Amino acid sequence: MSVVVMKFGGTSVADADRIGRAARRAICAKQAGNDVVMVVSAMGKTTDKLIALAKEISADPPRREMDMLLTTGEQVSISLMAMAINAAGQEAISLTGGQIGLITDAVHSKARIQKIDAARIRQELGAGRIVIVAGFQGIDESGEITTLGRGASDTTALALAAVLGAKECEIYTDVEGVYTTDPRIEPKSRKVEMISYDEMLELASLGAGVMHSRAIEFGKKYNVMIHVRSSFTDAVGTIITHEVKQMENIVVAGVAVKKDLAQFLLGHLPNQPGVAASVFAHVAEHNIVVDDIIQTFDDKGRANISFTVEHGDLAACRLVVDEIRRKFDLDEVICKDPVAKISAVGVGMRSHTGVAKKMFGALAAAQININAITTSEIKISCIIEPEQADAALRVVHGVFELDQEPGK
Ligand code: ADP
Ligand code: ASP
Ligand code: MG
Repeated sequence: MSVVVMKFGGTSVADADRIGRAARRAICAKQAGNDVVMVVSAMGKTTDKLIALAKEISADPPRREMDMLLTTGEQVSISLMAMAINAAGQEAISLTGGQIGLITDAVHSKARIQKIDAARIRQELGAGRIVIVAGFQGIDESGEITTLGRGASDTTALALAAVLGAKECEIYTDVEGVYTTDPRIEPKSRKVEMISYDEMLELASLGAGVMHSRAIEFGKKYNVMIHVRSSFTDAVGTIITHEVKQMENIVVAGVAVKKDLAQFLLGHLPNQPGVAASVFAHVAEHNIVVDDIIQTFDDKGRANISFTVEHGDLAACRLVVDEIRRKFDLDEVICKDPVAKISAVGVGMRSHTGVAKKMFGALAAAQININAITTSEIKISCIIEPEQADAALRVVHGVFELDQEPGK
């Protein structure tokens, strides 16, 4: 029998009706002859509400206890889903991350999956049950409960699809698929039929919240096709898969914005071998995720390094930067908080020129200043002021005519 993995996000299980609708979809897939594994997120805005509650109690709650708290959200929805399926006459069982042997490292709030022992899932599937797994959670080697980062139920789903040998993983959400940008910010954005893993990986890492980036890594590595679709309709959504030749004809596939960033500038470091290594060794020791590192030098033998981090790491990063300031006796350390990043992504950039010129020109025409620029083979990102982020998104989306079907 083939295994189908179906993931339902928070809005798709926000109330009893929606849980019932998701349950019916899973039962249909089971009746069509598949082994069905569901991965379910916490209901509606539960995770946000639990975080807000914790903040009322403590300004800096221990990360272990945050994980203990947040994983309760998914436990509510998996048990209700199992009840809904059982009530409809189909056997189902709900399981936590620990119960399916989803082992992670010990980094609370952003743990990474190390292994999954699929024996329990296979046993339950073998007994004819629909298996409902709590998204976004696991346990570390010592049995402590961990979470995989906000939005990471997608990653649980793709990891399970990979380990169970599923060919496809369905991601049910509140939009009809992957759009050329966030439709909540740009109503003119357009649903795309197909997008490559590499483009989606970049878009997700650069702020397109529709998918968790590590989920795409699993899909790409284990050849699992991802189908992002609406839980409210039967319409076909977006297929995320390997790159096909025609994709190169599309220069920019999507635009994303990230607003929860802070930028550090370490000025006047010695321009010598080992300095950057030492700076980022300090940062890495504290499990802080860094992106957009830029180093420049001057003619007095000094180097300046700037980098961005997400807000979740800001407090920890301030302490680390203070250590670095003392170590190198720096006279210039700046933290700009918040900053935003606007990015255009497309595999076609590899073979087309003039993309940067077009993007910078459009931002300039809209009086949007660029504070830093980073690029890769398939993306261009600009750090800008956060109050201009939404406008920048619309401007860049517009200049690449992403509201129009390609070729029209
Ligand atoms: P779920 O709870 O189902 O995981 P999310 O809120 O995590 O849902 O993701 C869906 C949301 O992602 C959409 O409502 C949309 O506003 C946002 N989004 C951001 N970028 C995009 C994009 N490029 N395409 C589609 N949706 C996007
Ligand atoms: N409930 C978690 C969150 O809101 C995980 C998820 O929905 O993917 O981040
Ligand atoms: Mg999500």
